[in-house]
Amino acid sequence: MLIARVIAEPEQMSAHVDAAIAAMKARGTVVAGAAMTDFCGNVLEFDIAEGDPAVVREVLDAQFAPSDVLVTDHEPRVPGLFVSDMDSTMIMAECIDELADFAGLKPQIAAITERAMQGELDFESALRERVLLLRGLSEGAIAECLATRIAPMPGARVLVETLKAHGCKTVLVTGGFHQFADPVAEQLGFEMVVGNRLEVLGGELSGGLVGAITDSSVKKAVLLEEAAHLGEGTVTLATGDGANDIPMIEAATYGIAYAAKPKARAAADGWVDRGDLTNVLNLLGIPRDQWVWE
Ligand SMILES: [Mg+2]
Repeated sequence: MLIARVIAEPEQMSAHVDAAIAAMKARGTVVAGAAMTDFCGNVLEFDIAEGDPAVVREVLDAQFAPSDVLVTDHEPRVPGLFVSDMDSTMIMAECIDELADFAGLKPQIAAITERAMQGELDFESALRERVLLLRGLSEGAIAECLATRIAPMPGARVLVETLKAHGCKTVLVTGGFHQFADPVAEQLGFEMVVGNRLEVLGGELSGGLVGAITDSSVKKAVLLEEAAHLGEGTVTLATGDGANDIPMIEAATYGIAYAAKPKARAAADGWVDRGDLTNVLNLLGIPRDQWVWE
């Protein structure tokens, strides 16, 4: 059994629902029913008795794009654990790119970032190369960068606070830096942060990192370890946008790609392309009157 939920333009949902069912059936999917749900605005839900989730996602993408989608074999519910990427998922920037701007190195560093996110460059070497370019930058540049350039993604705080209010543990995992992630986590309500730490010597970035690297395998390991702590059968949610989020997204009960790069989007159970991060709550079926807006 699969449940597939779609949020798109209301007219588009009603106009394309029959075509979507026909396209799924033509590809061997047994559709038991389709109906609008009203638990939080308009969400179109397909009950699928038998079918390949990848086929269902392809059909929904073709019929409803731009859309927000979740296809799952678990009845959507509040997860016990939420693990999210930070850069371009919970905040509207790549911190290292913004920091590089202070050092006058933005083009050099952004080019390496982009190649890493597209999966064309090994994450650790890309990270170390970029951090080395930042050597000599003053520690004050981080605070200035945070204050002037780092804004939360729309819906981020509502998503985190609402999940927390429903008993979900929230963890921010980032291939970026604690110097950014700690204040961002505090602002958005995350209870735990796992990330990399820029080494600071005499008030300046040394060009190195302190301790072990947080990469894609660590992101996935954090998800699995925290879920294990919470107990067997813990339902997990992961959100991310880049190649280094893929293992975490694949390991989660619900892996959702947010405004994601194609490879991450293809690996996920669903995506948010159209709405803000609160549409993750809509896809999970958490009613709007239970959201935390503070
Ligand atoms: Mg990211």
